Amino acid sequence: MDQPNAIPVCYYELPTTPRISWPNKNPGRNFFGCKNYRYSYGFRNIYCYFFNWFDHPISLRARAVAIGLLRRIRSKEMEKRRERMRWFFGSVAIVIMVCIMK
Ligand SMILES: [Zn+2]
Repeated sequence: MDQPNAIPVCYYELPTTPRISWPNKNPGRNFFGCKNYRYSYGFRNIYCYFFNWFDHPISLRARAVAIGLLRRIRSKEMEKRRERMRWFFGSVAIVIMVCIMK
Protein backbone atom coordinates (compact mmCIF):
# COMPACT_ATOMS: atom_id res chain seq x y z
CA MET A 1 0.00 0.00 0.00
CA ASP A 2 1.29 3.43 -0.87
CA GLN A 3 1.44 5.84 2.02
CA PRO A 4 -0.07 9.26 1.42
CA ASN A 5 2.18 12.28 1.89
CA ALA A 6 -0.56 14.44 3.40
CA ILE A 7 -4.24 14.21 4.26
CA PRO A 8 -6.17 16.13 1.59
CA VAL A 9 -9.06 18.45 2.33
CA CYS A 10 -12.39 18.16 0.53
CA TYR A 11 -14.24 20.71 -1.61
CA TYR A 12 -15.50 22.34 1.63
CA GLU A 13 -11.97 22.38 3.08
CA LEU A 14 -12.74 19.72 5.69
CA PRO A 15 -10.06 17.11 6.45
CA THR A 16 -10.81 13.80 4.75
CA THR A 17 -10.46 10.32 6.24
CA PRO A 18 -8.70 7.28 4.79
CA ARG A 19 -11.11 4.54 3.78
CA ILE A 20 -11.15 1.20 2.02
CA SER A 21 -13.30 0.50 -1.01
CA TRP A 22 -15.40 -2.72 -0.93
CA PRO A 23 -17.44 -2.75 -4.15
CA ASN A 24 -16.34 -5.40 -6.66
CA LYS A 25 -14.91 -2.81 -9.02
CA ASN A 26 -12.09 -1.85 -6.60
CA PRO A 27 -12.05 -4.22 -3.61
CA GLY A 28 -9.52 -3.38 -0.93
CA ARG A 29 -8.33 -0.21 -2.58
CA ASN A 30 -7.53 2.78 -0.34
CA PHE A 31 -8.90 6.25 -0.82
CA PHE A 32 -9.59 9.50 0.98
CA GLY A 33 -13.24 10.43 1.26
CA CYS A 34 -15.21 13.24 2.81
CA LYS A 35 -17.15 12.44 5.98
CA ASN A 36 -20.16 14.20 4.41
CA TYR A 37 -20.28 11.90 1.40
CA ARG A 38 -24.02 11.24 1.04
CA TYR A 39 -24.61 12.23 4.65
CA SER A 40 -27.78 13.86 5.91
CA TYR A 41 -28.17 16.13 8.94
CA GLY A 42 -31.84 15.80 9.89
CA PHE A 43 -33.85 17.18 7.02
CA ARG A 44 -30.81 18.66 5.28
CA ASN A 45 -28.78 16.54 2.94
CA ILE A 46 -25.18 17.59 2.64
CA TYR A 47 -23.38 15.95 -0.19
CA CYS A 48 -19.71 16.33 -0.82
CA TYR A 49 -18.37 14.09 -3.54
CA PHE A 50 -14.70 14.52 -2.80
CA PHE A 51 -12.92 11.27 -3.52
CA ASN A 52 -9.23 10.57 -4.05
CA TRP A 53 -7.46 7.20 -4.46
CA PHE A 54 -4.12 7.03 -2.70
CA ASP A 55 -2.87 3.71 -3.95
CA HIS A 56 -2.54 2.11 -7.35
CA PRO A 57 -5.20 -0.18 -8.85
CA ILE A 58 -4.70 -3.84 -7.99
CA SER A 59 -4.00 -6.41 -10.70
CA LEU A 60 -6.88 -8.25 -12.37
CA ARG A 61 -5.81 -11.52 -10.69
CA ALA A 62 -5.69 -9.91 -7.22
CA ARG A 63 -9.09 -8.34 -7.88
CA ALA A 64 -10.58 -11.71 -8.89
CA VAL A 65 -9.19 -13.33 -5.71
CA ALA A 66 -10.51 -10.48 -3.52
CA ILE A 67 -13.96 -10.68 -5.14
CA GLY A 68 -14.03 -14.45 -4.59
CA LEU A 69 -13.10 -14.05 -0.92
CA LEU A 70 -15.69 -11.30 -0.40
CA ARG A 71 -18.34 -13.49 -2.05
CA ARG A 72 -17.45 -16.35 0.30
CA ILE A 73 -17.65 -14.08 3.36
CA ARG A 74 -21.03 -12.69 2.25
CA SER A 75 -22.33 -16.21 1.62
CA LYS A 76 -21.28 -17.33 5.13
CA GLU A 77 -22.92 -14.23 6.64
CA MET A 78 -26.17 -14.94 4.75
CA GLU A 79 -26.12 -18.56 5.96
CA LYS A 80 -25.68 -17.39 9.58
CA ARG A 81 -28.55 -14.91 9.13
CA ARG A 82 -30.81 -17.66 7.71
CA GLU A 83 -29.89 -19.95 10.62
CA ARG A 84 -30.80 -17.23 13.16
CA MET A 85 -34.13 -16.64 11.39
CA ARG A 86 -34.92 -20.39 11.42
CA TRP A 87 -34.09 -20.54 15.14
CA PHE A 88 -36.21 -17.45 15.87
CA PHE A 89 -39.30 -18.63 13.95
CA GLY A 90 -38.92 -22.15 15.38
CA SER A 91 -38.91 -20.68 18.91
CA VAL A 92 -41.95 -18.52 18.15
CA ALA A 93 -43.80 -21.57 16.76
CA ILE A 94 -43.04 -23.58 19.93
CA VAL A 95 -44.24 -20.73 22.18
CA ILE A 96 -47.46 -20.41 20.17
CA MET A 97 -48.06 -24.17 20.33
CA VAL A 98 -47.50 -24.21 24.11
CA CYS A 99 -49.92 -21.28 24.55
CA ILE A 100 -52.57 -22.98 22.39
CA MET A 101 -52.28 -26.32 24.26
CA LYS A 102 -52.91 -24.69 27.67
ZN1 LIG B 1 -16.52 17.45 2.07
